[in-house]
Amino acid sequence: MYDVLVVGSANADLTVRVDRRPGPGETVLGTDLVESAGGKGANQAAAAARLGARTALLARVGDDAFGELLLDAQRDAGTELRHVLVEKGARTGTAMIVVGPDGDNSIVVSPGANAALSPADVTAAREVIAASAVLSLQLEVPERTVRAAVAVAAETGTRVVLNPSPAPEVLDPALLAAADPLVVNEHEARRLSGLPDGDPGRRAAALRDLGARSVVVTLGAQGALALDADAAEPASVPGVEVEVVDTTGAGDAFTGALAARLARGASLAEAARFAVRVGAASVTREGAQPSYPTAEEL
Ligand code: ATP
Repeated sequence: MYDVLVVGSANADLTVRVDRRPGPGETVLGTDLVESAGGKGANQAAAAARLGARTALLARVGDDAFGELLLDAQRDAGTELRHVLVEKGARTGTAMIVVGPDGDNSIVVSPGANAALSPADVTAAREVIAASAVLSLQLEVPERTVRAAVAVAAETGTRVVLNPSPAPEVLDPALLAAADPLVVNEHEARRLSGLPDGDPGRRAAALRDLGARSVVVTLGAQGALALDADAAEPASVPGVEVEVVDTTGAGDAFTGALAARLARGASLAEAARFAVRVGAASVTREGAQPSYPTAEEL
Protein backbone atom coordinates (compact mmCIF):
# COMPACT_ATOMS: atom_id res chain seq x y z
CA MET A 1 0.00 0.00 0.00
CA TYR A 2 2.77 2.44 1.02
CA ASP A 3 6.51 2.54 0.57
CA VAL A 4 6.87 4.47 3.82
CA LEU A 5 4.49 4.80 6.75
CA VAL A 6 5.68 7.40 9.27
CA VAL A 7 4.27 7.19 12.79
CA GLY A 8 5.28 10.29 14.70
CA SER A 9 5.00 13.94 15.57
CA ALA A 10 3.68 16.97 13.74
CA ASN A 11 4.54 20.42 15.08
CA ALA A 12 4.11 23.99 13.94
CA ASP A 13 7.56 25.63 14.09
CA LEU A 14 7.32 29.25 15.34
CA THR A 15 10.66 30.92 14.74
CA VAL A 16 12.03 34.30 15.81
CA ARG A 17 15.61 35.48 15.33
CA VAL A 18 17.25 37.59 18.06
CA ASP A 19 20.51 39.55 18.35
CA ARG A 20 20.87 38.45 21.95
CA ARG A 21 19.12 35.76 23.97
CA PRO A 22 17.03 36.98 26.91
CA GLY A 23 18.27 36.08 30.40
CA PRO A 24 15.84 34.96 33.13
CA GLY A 25 13.13 37.62 33.63
CA GLU A 26 14.33 39.65 30.64
CA THR A 27 12.51 40.65 27.43
CA VAL A 28 14.23 41.23 24.09
CA LEU A 29 12.81 42.16 20.69
CA GLY A 30 13.22 39.79 17.76
CA THR A 31 12.41 39.63 14.05
CA ASP A 32 8.95 38.96 12.60
CA LEU A 33 7.51 35.57 13.51
CA VAL A 34 7.88 32.83 10.88
CA GLU A 35 5.40 29.94 11.04
CA SER A 36 6.31 26.75 9.22
CA ALA A 37 5.50 23.04 9.21
CA GLY A 38 7.77 20.83 11.29
CA GLY A 39 7.91 17.96 13.76
CA LYS A 40 10.16 14.99 13.10
CA GLY A 41 7.42 12.65 11.92
CA ALA A 42 5.84 15.18 9.58
CA ASN A 43 9.26 16.24 8.28
CA GLN A 44 10.29 12.69 7.45
CA ALA A 45 6.97 12.02 5.71
CA ALA A 46 7.27 15.22 3.66
CA ALA A 47 10.84 14.33 2.65
CA ALA A 48 9.89 10.83 1.47
CA ALA A 49 6.71 11.97 -0.30
CA ARG A 50 8.44 14.82 -2.15
CA LEU A 51 10.96 12.33 -3.51
CA GLY A 52 8.10 10.35 -5.02
CA ALA A 53 7.71 7.56 -2.45
CA ARG A 54 4.14 6.49 -1.65
CA THR A 55 4.05 7.86 1.86
CA ALA A 56 1.50 8.04 4.67
CA LEU A 57 1.63 9.76 8.05
CA LEU A 58 0.00 8.47 11.22
CA ALA A 59 -0.08 11.42 13.60
CA ARG A 60 -2.38 13.62 15.67
CA VAL A 61 -3.01 17.33 15.24
CA GLY A 62 -5.56 19.69 16.83
CA ASP A 63 -8.48 21.32 14.98
CA ASP A 64 -6.73 24.71 15.01
CA ALA A 65 -4.93 26.92 12.48
CA PHE A 66 -1.58 25.21 13.11
CA GLY A 67 -3.16 21.82 12.35
CA GLU A 68 -4.37 23.26 9.02
CA LEU A 69 -0.87 24.59 8.29
CA LEU A 70 0.59 21.12 8.84
CA LEU A 71 -2.04 19.36 6.75
CA ASP A 72 -1.54 21.85 3.89
CA ALA A 73 2.20 21.23 3.94
CA GLN A 74 1.72 17.45 3.77
CA ARG A 75 -0.80 17.84 0.93
CA ASP A 76 1.73 19.93 -0.90
CA ALA A 77 4.39 17.22 -0.45
CA GLY A 78 2.00 14.49 -1.62
CA THR A 79 1.61 12.56 1.66
CA GLU A 80 -1.49 10.40 2.19
CA LEU A 81 -3.41 12.08 5.02
CA ARG A 82 -6.21 9.64 5.80
CA HIS A 83 -4.32 8.38 8.88
CA VAL A 84 -3.78 11.82 10.40
CA LEU A 85 -6.20 12.12 13.30
CA VAL A 86 -7.62 15.60 13.91
CA GLU A 87 -8.51 15.94 17.57
CA LYS A 88 -11.43 18.21 18.46
CA GLY A 89 -10.55 20.93 20.96
CA ALA A 90 -6.86 19.93 21.13
CA ARG A 91 -3.92 22.17 20.36
CA THR A 92 -1.52 21.14 17.62
CA GLY A 93 2.04 20.48 18.80
CA THR A 94 4.19 23.60 18.68
CA ALA A 95 7.94 24.23 18.69
CA MET A 96 8.95 27.72 19.82
CA ILE A 97 12.33 28.34 18.24
CA VAL A 98 14.65 31.21 19.07
CA VAL A 99 17.59 31.54 16.70
CA GLY A 100 20.56 33.44 18.15
CA PRO A 101 23.06 35.63 16.28
CA ASP A 102 25.40 32.66 15.74
CA GLY A 103 22.60 30.64 14.09
CA ASP A 104 22.15 28.19 16.97
CA ASN A 105 18.64 27.29 18.16
CA SER A 106 16.98 27.22 21.57
CA ILE A 107 13.72 25.30 21.30
CA VAL A 108 10.75 24.74 23.62
CA VAL A 109 8.28 22.10 22.39
CA SER A 110 4.67 21.98 23.54
CA PRO A 111 3.60 18.45 22.49
CA GLY A 112 -0.16 19.24 22.30
CA ALA A 113 -2.00 16.58 20.29
CA ASN A 114 1.23 14.57 19.77
CA ALA A 115 0.99 13.48 23.42
CA ALA A 116 -2.35 11.82 22.65
CA LEU A 117 -1.01 9.57 19.87
CA SER A 118 -1.66 6.28 21.62
CA PRO A 119 -0.80 2.58 21.38
CA ALA A 120 -4.46 2.05 20.42
CA ASP A 121 -4.03 4.40 17.43
CA VAL A 122 -1.15 2.24 16.28
CA THR A 123 -2.78 -1.15 16.81
CA ALA A 124 -5.85 0.15 14.94
CA ALA A 125 -3.50 0.75 11.98
CA ARG A 126 -2.15 -2.83 12.01
CA GLU A 127 -3.24 -3.54 8.43
CA VAL A 128 -1.64 -0.34 7.21
CA ILE A 129 1.65 -1.26 8.91
CA ALA A 130 1.41 -4.75 7.41
CA ALA A 131 0.95 -3.27 3.93
CA SER A 132 3.88 -0.82 4.17
CA ALA A 133 7.45 -1.65 3.17
CA VAL A 134 9.07 0.57 5.81
CA LEU A 135 7.80 1.94 9.13
CA SER A 136 9.66 5.11 10.13
CA LEU A 137 9.69 6.07 13.84
CA GLN A 138 11.14 8.82 16.06
CA LEU A 139 10.69 9.67 19.77
CA GLU A 140 8.65 12.91 19.76
CA VAL A 141 5.46 10.96 20.59
CA PRO A 142 4.94 8.86 23.76
CA GLU A 143 7.46 6.02 23.98
CA ARG A 144 4.72 3.48 24.71
CA THR A 145 3.22 4.34 21.31
CA VAL A 146 6.56 3.76 19.59
CA ARG A 147 6.89 0.44 21.46
CA ALA A 148 3.42 -0.58 20.25
CA ALA A 149 4.39 0.29 16.65
CA VAL A 150 7.55 -1.81 16.92
CA ALA A 151 5.55 -4.74 18.32
CA VAL A 152 3.09 -4.62 15.41
CA ALA A 153 5.94 -4.34 12.88
CA ALA A 154 7.59 -7.43 14.40
CA GLU A 155 4.36 -9.39 13.85
CA THR A 156 3.83 -8.13 10.31
CA GLY A 157 7.48 -8.34 9.24
CA THR A 158 7.63 -4.63 8.38
CA ARG A 159 11.11 -3.08 8.32
CA VAL A 160 11.61 -0.43 11.03
CA VAL A 161 13.74 2.69 10.56
CA LEU A 162 14.21 4.29 13.99
CA ASN A 163 15.58 7.77 14.60
CA PRO A 164 15.83 7.91 18.44
CA SER A 165 15.43 11.65 18.68
CA PRO A 166 15.20 13.46 21.04
CA ALA A 167 17.80 11.06 22.44
CA PRO A 168 16.87 9.46 25.75
CA GLU A 169 19.55 8.63 28.36
CA VAL A 170 18.95 4.94 27.68
CA LEU A 171 17.09 3.48 24.72
CA ASP A 172 14.58 0.70 25.40
CA PRO A 173 16.25 -2.58 24.28
CA ALA A 174 13.09 -3.60 22.39
CA LEU A 175 13.30 -0.42 20.30
CA LEU A 176 17.01 -0.89 19.68
CA ALA A 177 16.50 -4.50 18.59
CA ALA A 178 13.85 -3.48 16.06
CA ALA A 179 15.94 -0.77 14.39
CA ASP A 180 17.08 -1.71 10.87
CA PRO A 181 18.67 0.77 10.75
CA LEU A 182 19.01 2.92 13.84
CA VAL A 183 19.63 6.42 12.41
CA VAL A 184 21.58 8.70 14.76
CA ASN A 185 23.46 11.97 14.48
CA GLU A 186 26.83 12.36 16.20
CA HIS A 187 25.33 13.61 19.46
CA GLU A 188 22.85 10.72 19.64
CA ALA A 189 25.55 8.20 18.67
CA ARG A 190 27.79 9.45 21.46
CA ARG A 191 25.06 9.34 24.07
CA LEU A 192 23.49 5.99 23.15
CA SER A 193 26.74 4.10 22.47
CA GLY A 194 28.25 5.18 25.78
CA LEU A 195 31.44 6.12 23.87
CA PRO A 196 32.09 9.84 24.36
CA ASP A 197 35.52 9.46 22.73
CA GLY A 198 36.60 7.62 19.63
CA ASP A 199 35.48 7.70 16.04
CA PRO A 200 31.94 7.36 14.64
CA GLY A 201 32.73 3.94 13.17
CA ARG A 202 33.41 2.55 16.64
CA ARG A 203 30.18 4.08 17.92
CA ALA A 204 28.23 2.51 15.06
CA ALA A 205 29.76 -0.89 15.89
CA ALA A 206 28.99 -0.39 19.59
CA LEU A 207 25.35 0.41 18.81
CA ARG A 208 25.07 -2.75 16.70
CA ASP A 209 26.69 -4.74 19.54
CA LEU A 210 24.08 -3.28 21.88
CA GLY A 211 21.33 -4.77 19.71
CA ALA A 212 20.52 -2.58 16.70
CA ARG A 213 20.31 -4.66 13.50
CA SER A 214 22.06 -2.03 11.45
CA VAL A 215 23.23 1.53 12.12
CA VAL A 216 23.56 4.79 10.19
CA VAL A 217 25.44 7.72 11.74
CA THR A 218 24.94 11.11 10.08
CA LEU A 219 27.96 13.41 10.21
CA GLY A 220 26.64 16.80 9.11
CA ALA A 221 28.81 18.29 6.34
CA GLN A 222 30.98 15.15 6.48
CA GLY A 223 28.17 12.88 5.18
CA ALA A 224 27.34 9.59 6.90
CA LEU A 225 28.43 6.08 7.87
CA ALA A 226 26.31 2.99 7.19
CA LEU A 227 26.98 -0.24 9.07
CA ASP A 228 24.81 -3.04 7.72
CA ALA A 229 23.75 -6.12 9.70
CA ASP A 230 26.47 -8.44 8.49
CA ALA A 231 29.14 -5.93 7.39
CA ALA A 232 32.60 -6.08 8.94
CA GLU A 233 33.23 -2.36 8.33
CA PRO A 234 30.92 0.63 7.90
CA ALA A 235 30.48 2.07 4.42
CA SER A 236 31.62 5.68 4.46
CA VAL A 237 29.58 8.18 2.44
CA PRO A 238 31.35 11.53 1.93
CA GLY A 239 29.38 14.75 2.33
CA VAL A 240 28.36 16.97 -0.56
CA GLU A 241 29.85 20.46 -0.51
CA VAL A 242 27.05 23.04 -0.68
CA GLU A 243 26.38 26.64 0.28
CA VAL A 244 24.68 26.32 3.67
CA VAL A 245 21.62 28.54 4.26
CA ASP A 246 19.79 26.71 7.09
CA THR A 247 20.39 23.21 8.50
CA THR A 248 16.98 22.94 10.25
CA GLY A 249 15.44 19.53 9.52
CA ALA A 250 18.45 18.18 7.59
CA GLY A 251 18.47 15.02 9.71
CA ASP A 252 14.78 14.43 8.96
CA ALA A 253 15.34 14.97 5.23
CA PHE A 254 18.09 12.35 5.43
CA THR A 255 15.93 9.82 7.30
CA GLY A 256 12.89 10.29 5.05
CA ALA A 257 15.06 9.82 1.97
CA LEU A 258 16.77 6.77 3.46
CA ALA A 259 13.41 5.15 4.26
CA ALA A 260 12.14 5.91 0.74
CA ARG A 261 15.14 4.22 -0.88
CA LEU A 262 15.14 1.20 1.45
CA ALA A 263 11.47 0.70 0.65
CA ARG A 264 12.37 0.37 -3.04
CA GLY A 265 14.94 -2.35 -2.27
CA ALA A 266 18.21 -0.39 -2.11
CA SER A 267 21.05 -1.64 0.07
CA LEU A 268 21.79 0.33 3.25
CA ALA A 269 24.91 1.90 1.69
CA GLU A 270 23.04 2.86 -1.52
CA ALA A 271 20.20 4.36 0.49
CA ALA A 272 22.67 6.32 2.64
CA ARG A 273 24.41 7.73 -0.47
CA PHE A 274 21.06 8.97 -1.77
CA ALA A 275 20.08 10.35 1.66
CA VAL A 276 23.34 12.32 1.97
CA ARG A 277 22.51 14.09 -1.29
CA VAL A 278 18.99 14.86 -0.08
CA GLY A 279 20.28 16.12 3.28
CA ALA A 280 22.79 18.36 1.51
CA ALA A 281 20.11 19.77 -0.81
CA SER A 282 17.91 20.56 2.20
CA VAL A 283 20.52 22.81 3.85
CA THR A 284 20.68 25.07 0.79
CA ARG A 285 17.19 26.46 1.51
CA GLU A 286 15.40 28.00 4.53
CA GLY A 287 13.24 25.95 6.89
CA ALA A 288 12.60 22.25 7.31
CA GLN A 289 9.86 20.96 4.98
CA PRO A 290 9.99 23.89 2.51
CA SER A 291 13.67 23.05 1.92
CA TYR A 292 13.15 19.42 0.88
CA PRO A 293 13.91 18.60 -2.76
CA THR A 294 11.86 16.63 -5.28
CA ALA A 295 13.61 13.83 -7.17
CA GLU A 296 13.74 16.14 -10.20
CA GLU A 297 15.41 18.98 -8.27
CA LEU A 298 17.93 16.55 -6.84
P1 ATP B 1 19.46 18.65 12.16
O1 ATP B 1 19.41 18.55 13.67
O2 ATP B 1 20.05 19.92 11.62
O3 ATP B 1 18.19 18.28 11.49
P2 ATP B 1 21.10 16.30 12.43
O4 ATP B 1 22.07 16.73 13.48
O5 ATP B 1 20.03 15.33 12.81
O6 ATP B 1 20.51 17.53 11.67
P3 ATP B 1 23.27 16.03 10.52
O7 ATP B 1 24.22 14.90 10.69
O8 ATP B 1 23.73 17.39 10.94
O9 ATP B 1 21.90 15.60 11.23
O10 ATP B 1 22.83 16.15 9.00
C1 ATP B 1 22.09 15.16 8.31
C2 ATP B 1 22.53 15.10 6.87
O11 ATP B 1 22.28 16.38 6.25
C3 ATP B 1 24.01 14.84 6.67
O12 ATP B 1 24.28 13.45 6.62
C4 ATP B 1 24.25 15.53 5.33
O13 ATP B 1 23.81 14.70 4.28
C5 ATP B 1 23.34 16.74 5.39
N1 ATP B 1 24.02 17.93 5.90
C6 ATP B 1 23.89 18.49 7.13
N2 ATP B 1 24.67 19.59 7.26
C7 ATP B 1 25.33 19.72 6.09
C8 ATP B 1 26.29 20.67 5.58
N3 ATP B 1 26.72 21.68 6.33
N4 ATP B 1 26.73 20.50 4.31
C9 ATP B 1 26.30 19.48 3.54
N5 ATP B 1 25.41 18.55 3.97
C10 ATP B 1 24.92 18.67 5.21
